Amino acid sequence: MNTSTTEPLTVADRCDRCGAQAYVRVLLSEGELFFCAHHARAHAPAYEDVAVEVQDETEKLLAEYGAGAMR
Ligand SMILES: [Zn+2]
Repeated sequence: MNTSTTEPLTVADRCDRCGAQAYVRVLLSEGELFFCAHHARAHAPAYEDVAVEVQDETEKLLAEYGAGAMR
């Protein structure tokens, strides 16, 4: 099965933890998770080992808001 459904994240994609705009999509064998840059980093240890694919668009955040948004 080809699971390359990597469409760009949009403003409609929200962090599962805080509801901020999501910049990281974590594809799992049983669904997917969305995280903002902050929570993506906070939860990386939890999903890194089980993720099928991690779509990281935090560069976009950097481009739009600068390094200050990466805290
Ligand atoms: Zn968040």
